[in-house]
Amino acid sequence: MGLKEYRKKRDFRVTTEPAARATRAKAQRARIFVVQKHQARNLHYDFRLEWNGVLLSWAVPKGPSLDPSVKRLAAPVEDHPVDYAGFEGIIPEGEYGGGTVMAWDRGTWTPEVPDVDAALRAGDLKFSLRGRKLRGSWVLVRTRGFPPGSGKPSWLLIKHRDADASKEDITKTKPRSVISRRTLAGIAREGGGDVAKAAAGDPPASARPAAFAERARPLPSS
Ligand code: MN
Repeated sequence: MGLKEYRKKRDFRVTTEPAARATRAKAQRARIFVVQKHQARNLHYDFRLEWNGVLLSWAVPKGPSLDPSVKRLAAPVEDHPVDYAGFEGIIPEGEYGGGTVMAWDRGTWTPEVPDVDAALRAGDLKFSLRGRKLRGSWVLVRTRGFPPGSGKPSWLLIKHRDADASKEDITKTKPRSVISRRTLAGIAREGGGDVAKAAAGDPPASARPAAFAERARPLPSS
């Protein structure tokens, strides 16, 4: 773990993603989680949990599901700096992850296990989320690999059955940025990115919004 791989993959003279600086001191405060919708070569949702001064990260191709009967593949990717949780914008084409990044959901998370490191080693991390879109109890569980037999470890992100479980397809009903209300296309347009490529990650209903709907609106100051 650590940020070596994160740094190695990026040229911070070119991308506006946060450079990895010293990690924050471990403090008794709520840990953050963020889900970044990322239209790169393929659309995916980067699911990140703050732990030990970094963001543990998984790429979830289909995004989280509120339906406990649905298991979503979550491929582990390199740890990211905690500052990355605030990133929304354009990664230049040709750079690692080139495309558009949206802060799709944010909030805090709480482990539901006594020892997070042991749970990660065992491949079974239970936790709860307090976000704007994702709430309640979840689990990340490691499987033997995907595709089966590939030997590549992968994880599944699954909603536990509780009051926050639902059949609602949250990626379709709530496709916009949690910090700016923008669509992927809106973020690309304002950031000088590839708008057509970004729009491919927006659901059809929001791909042709009225101009006012795409403008960034400030969050209520709370
Ligand atoms: Mn990504």
